[in-house]
Amino acid sequence: MEAEHMGADLQDILFTEEQIQERLAELAQQVWADYEGVHDKLLLVGVLKGAVLVMADFMRALPGSAPIDFLAVSSYGSGTKSSGVVRILKDLDADITGRHVLIVEDIIDSGLTLSWIKTNLLSRGPASVEICTLLRKPESLKVEIDVRYVGFDIPSAFVVGYGLDFDEQYRNLRVIGTLATHVYS
Ligand code: IMP
Repeated sequence: MEAEHMGADLQDILFTEEQIQERLAELAQQVWADYEGVHDKLLLVGVLKGAVLVMADFMRALPGSAPIDFLAVSSYGSGTKSSGVVRILKDLDADITGRHVLIVEDIIDSGLTLSWIKTNLLSRGPASVEICTLLRKPESLKVEIDVRYVGFDIPSAFVVGYGLDFDEQYRNLRVIGTLATHVYS
């Protein structure tokens, strides 16, 4: 879906397709260099559903092969605020013992979801667990969370597109933009 198909529901475009691809390519190069020597133990873990597009483009930008797995958790339901209550809806298929896990996320808002996921994965005996997120809202963080790779820091507005939804809508928007307040207020 193109930005013009959103009509008045889209307030501003924050990142174009090109900007997203360029930044993901940089992150992929950096990740591959940082994991030099342990590429065979690297496992990319995407958090469904929002991270699907980030995963698809990030993994293809890597200059080598890396397996992927997915985790689904409940976070926002249909609202726009994090509940902090996390429940695993779909667990990983892989055993992560001794693996270098890199969580690939779309956005970190309060940080509550990822903080919970990271603690949960660390309890399974991996060699390491790091986080790579395309977007982060620094002003919204409610917990201290170490995020090794960040695509873009953004203000605390609600954003949609490129996998990010509001009530399951707009995930297929090509750009990332702010949602007009009339849509959710
Ligand atoms: P957190 O627990 O507050 O960090 O929220 C994490 C999850 O909430 C993300 O993985 C998204 O699914 C969702 N989320 C947070 N902010 C936004 C947003 O601006 N737009 C769409 N989804 C969001």
